Amino acid sequence: MKLRWESLPLELKTTFRIAHGASDKRFNVLVFLDDGVGEAAAVPYYGESQEGIIEYLKTVPDLGEEVFDLDQVLARRPPGSRAARSAIDQALHDLWGKRLGQPLYKLLGLNPMRLPPTSITIGMDDPKVMARQARESGQPILKLKLGGDCDEERVSAIRAVTNAKIRVDANAGWSREQALKIIPRLAEFDLEFIEQPLAVEDLQGYFWLKKELRELNVNLPIFADESVKTSRDVVLLAGAVDGVVVKLMKTEGIREALRTIHTARAHDMQVMLSCMVESSVGVTAAAHLAPLCDHVDLDGPLLIRIDPYAGLTYDGSKITLPERPGIGVMKRSTA
Ligand code: MG
Repeated sequence: MKLRWESLPLELKTTFRIAHGASDKRFNVLVFLDDGVGEAAAVPYYGESQEGIIEYLKTVPDLGEEVFDLDQVLARRPPGSRAARSAIDQALHDLWGKRLGQPLYKLLGLNPMRLPPTSITIGMDDPKVMARQARESGQPILKLKLGGDCDEERVSAIRAVTNAKIRVDANAGWSREQALKIIPRLAEFDLEFIEQPLAVEDLQGYFWLKKELRELNVNLPIFADESVKTSRDVVLLAGAVDGVVVKLMKTEGIREALRTIHTARAHDMQVMLSCMVESSVGVTAAAHLAPLCDHVDLDGPLLIRIDPYAGLTYDGSKITLPERPGIGVMKRSTA
């Protein structure tokens, strides 16, 4: 199989602010394995860059010709960039489906009608600005980025203008003390769950937080995102969180994403499927796993100005998978 790549610059529709910082451009990489395609998202706070991804790809040896021996091919990936390793895995799954003439969800035995609806993300901003965006979006499921000062005002302002389901993501932006102070207050606003309230490495903090919240009779579910990259990390947080967030850029692809989802299930955890700032290539690859998940947060293509590929489609919060073989993405003719 021949490995090649090309850079994929993405411009965001609006500056995207989260607890780690703000950005309005991303520099991803498309990876091809014969006819298969995958995407590596260069997310700075995961230590990834376009240069680093390309440097990694240059070190990848011949992956062989055994398209149907997925684990064997994937084991040939050298250690290094998670995003690049993920893109190789996606391209291999795409190629697998194309060789067999079937969409990926079918090869995985999944029902494409069972996709949970996706949330739409509202970046961290002034409470009034976030409330206006929430109202104008008209979306039934919103995900709010928090993790700064005035988080309670943000949620309060948005709750005042919408009956939408609201989930919030602190992106590791609170200390233990801040989290314990604000979560009981946020619980008053009828939220679905809170993502990553504590620091990435503070796994013990999640056990502590669970106990403290139980004593206060606060039942708002807590999900881990940045703290859980692969199935091994799920095990470390068993009993401490109610759910985990699975992303192909953390699991290094579809193969390990499946293991991560099943490991979470085995520990009675919920699963949300999510993405980074990605085009329809990476997000459609992920969407094939959505029938296995409780919640979906796959709005990456809606955040970017020009998406060079067509893949999954959106109707409000409803997402639909393409019927084409493999991941099912197609280069747009105008791009
Ligand atoms: Mg998150």
